[in-house]
Amino acid sequence: MNPPSSAKRILIVEDEPAIADTLIYVLANSGYQTEHVGLVQTALARLREQSFAMAIVDVGLPDGNGFDLCRQLRRFSEIPVMFLTAHGDEIDRIVGLEIGADDYVTKPFSPREVAARVGVILRRLGAARGNGQAPALAGQFELDSQAGRIRYCGTLLDLTRYEFLLLKLLIEHPERIFSREQLLERVWREPGDVFDRTVDTHIKTLRAKLRAAVADQDPIRTHRGQGYSLQSR
Ligand code: CA
Repeated sequence: MNPPSSAKRILIVEDEPAIADTLIYVLANSGYQTEHVGLVQTALARLREQSFAMAIVDVGLPDGNGFDLCRQLRRFSEIPVMFLTAHGDEIDRIVGLEIGADDYVTKPFSPREVAARVGVILRRLGAARGNGQAPALAGQFELDSQAGRIRYCGTLLDLTRYEFLLLKLLIEHPERIFSREQLLERVWREPGDVFDRTVDTHIKTLRAKLRAAVADQDPIRTHRGQGYSLQSR
């Protein structure tokens, strides 16, 4: 059995159980999967472990506030964030977008309105990634060569230098099969004491990092006796 798709999984960060339950109920009725946590630290841990389509974050939380959570989240992920706020004076900060929020609702809110806005945000995201279709696998990568960074489905990957160069090469040539020798030559450049195993080892750690970002995809293909390629669809 396949694990559930991460496409429409939403993290709810809210310390008031009644509000969380209402959101879980209305979002489930709209076809979303939800996970609920009540603390900033738990939320950050889950956001690092699991891929979510977006997060709904209460501003006032027992171990911190939603703004700090969002700031820390932005260091490794660009998923949309919708704030729940109880105080009008928080809105200025949210609207100023200094913390990279996508939307907010004020308490008390209409659960249906929240569900509708979630739909708008996720459709907008889908459209930005290509006509609301699931993006092609190669298209799920955002390569920033200058900064030496790669995002995968919005999650910033923590890569070593050679993992980065390897993945960069594959992203730039989707579907093309590279032999181990070609990868050694193009990624490692200086011929020294590197072996064919070096490529396999790096592919293995790279795959583990991609799996940690999105559990149910394996975009790197192994072609027996030939090498590796990056799946484009
Ligand atoms: Ca609260």
